[in-house]
Amino acid sequence: MRLIHIPLVALLSCSSLAAPLTIALGEQDWTSQEWDAIVVGAGPAGIIVADKLSEAGKKTLLLEGGGKSYGITGGSQQPDWLAGTNMSRVDIPGLYKSVFDDPGDLTCASEETAAFGGCTIGGSSAINAGLFFQPPSSDWDTFHPDGWKDADLEAATKRLLSRQKSVTNYSADGNFYLQTGYEAAKKWLVDSAGYSNVVINDEPHDKTKVFGRPAYDYNNGQRGGPVTTYLQTSLSRSNFLLQSGVRVQRVERSGSKATGVVAKFNGTTVTIPLSSTGRVVLSGGAIQSPQLLMMSGIGDPATLSQLESNKLLPDSMNPSTWINNTAVGDGLFDNPNTFIELTGPSIASYTYSYKSPITSDTLMYLGSKSGPYTFASQTSVFWTMMPHTDGTPPTGVQGTIDSAGYGEYVDDRTITLNVYGTSGLLSSGRVQVDAKGVAGPSDDIYYSDAAGRDASDIAQFIHDLFQALPGSGLTPLNIPANASKEEIVNYITTPSQYAKGQVNHWSSSCRIGSCVDAEALKVQGTDNVHVVDASVVAPLTVNPQFGIMVAAEKGGELIAAL
Ligand SMILES: Cc1cc2nc3c(=O)[nH]c(=O)nc-3n(C[C@H](O)[C@H](O)[C@H](O)COP(=O)(O)OP(=O)(O)OC[C@H]3O[C@@H](n4cnc5c(N)ncnc54)[C@H](O)[C@@H]3O)c2cc1C
Repeated sequence: MRLIHIPLVALLSCSSLAAPLTIALGEQDWTSQEWDAIVVGAGPAGIIVADKLSEAGKKTLLLEGGGKSYGITGGSQQPDWLAGTNMSRVDIPGLYKSVFDDPGDLTCASEETAAFGGCTIGGSSAINAGLFFQPPSSDWDTFHPDGWKDADLEAATKRLLSRQKSVTNYSADGNFYLQTGYEAAKKWLVDSAGYSNVVINDEPHDKTKVFGRPAYDYNNGQRGGPVTTYLQTSLSRSNFLLQSGVRVQRVERSGSKATGVVAKFNGTTVTIPLSSTGRVVLSGGAIQSPQLLMMSGIGDPATLSQLESNKLLPDSMNPSTWINNTAVGDGLFDNPNTFIELTGPSIASYTYSYKSPITSDTLMYLGSKSGPYTFASQTSVFWTMMPHTDGTPPTGVQGTIDSAGYGEYVDDRTITLNVYGTSGLLSSGRVQVDAKGVAGPSDDIYYSDAAGRDASDIAQFIHDLFQALPGSGLTPLNIPANASKEEIVNYITTPSQYAKGQVNHWSSSCRIGSCVDAEALKVQGTDNVHVVDASVVAPLTVNPQFGIMVAAEKGGELIAAL
């Protein structure tokens, strides 16, 4: 069998190249070849797993439903001020927020998923802020099963950091930009509220009353992430192929054994075969991997019955072929978030622009990869833990401070504090698939615990912070500084543009130990179907990408060894 490998970078000069990437493979095309590993989804997890499997010599096919993103993938969407460079909008950290105004073709289509996220080469790592925090050891030790404790992940974490560094100094000139919010927050949190001022990833395990500058996965002033690292080594191997524009519909299986995947490509439906010892790895993210399992007849029988009555399962897949795994889609998590708008006389807010940034800022960026466009707008970050007296783990809480106001509060002296609840929360929901086959979150993701402990913890955190405001020069605008805890509970649990909105940190919908096994993230009830992505990771104390990448480093290693 002949596998023709054409590195993506080499393809970029090819005039026949149009989205989706189509690669001729000589006599036998890639859809009919047998693969040792088919990885579905080129998000951060899928890219890492595919790299590990191809490194181990497996003939590996990485399928991505979306198209080009970074300049090095052939992405070319850019504002005029980037004309003549090989960078697309994706490469510029300071263009992060533009994806909320106009995502172009970078985000998932509404007919595919009812949640905001990146559906492109890199997944959400191609559109996110790039915040890159190592989870504290307690996240693994407390919330993950044996085999997935912090000590088990030490080597994977080291490998990750050797491929993908975490940077606090993002601007090549060594300066920090847009610092009025940072200075005011430091006065408030460190001088008044008693937080320690730390380099966050130098002290990854301490998340009690710590404050610092954000850490990012940027590289030389541009967006970093696995597309710029792991994907590039994969592309240099002759046993690896990336195909974008391929939307996988389901896993094809014979009983508990996957034999291939069914996918839509160029308007036709194809079945791409696995070799007799091959494996499918689903890395479509915490919403779409459970959906793929359900569409493959693997899940909660009640959900599968619903899919069947909505005619979403093929006729050949009658109930006797279903694999019962009630943990598929269960436990879906996202951070409950509240926007708190803060104003003060010392604050000079800064709003990024896609089309018309301040000229001196674009010159600084293009000339020396320095200035405000070298980061995604976050100036400071802090955490603490809210303890419980009943012996249950504490609730993690996080604050992230942005350079500008939001919603109705956008004058030039206003900045935004986002307050998240993180690890240890009791609330979670499920992945649901509607009558048209669109997957999304159930409506009980946030604050659904019966006793209201989650809201109480987060409100207490905000209340505590507000007690330390006097002297900081900052005043909250959308919640009164003297609000009672009960008033804050009411505010954060009432849907508005400031509360209860989606943060898009989806995770935990196919957890290790219940949905997939701890040995190699194999879906319970199957022989050779794995899930490696945000789905398998329990809610983390920090923004999730780092932890997901560690899980993929480890998962890829375990699967390669099977
Ligand atoms: C706007 C935004 C900002 C964020 N900011 C941060 C941040 O600063 N720091 C941080 O740590 N986290 C952040 N996150 C979260 C982080 O990006 C995600 O947790 C992470 O990308 C999840 O990785 P993943 O590999 O599980 O899946 P994803 O990144 O979701 O990638 C999955 C990929 O699979 C593809 N796919 C899915 N289904 C199919 C199918 N059926 N066929 C083919 N392909 C398929 C998708 O197109 C997608 O490209 C942010 C997320 C968003 C949306």
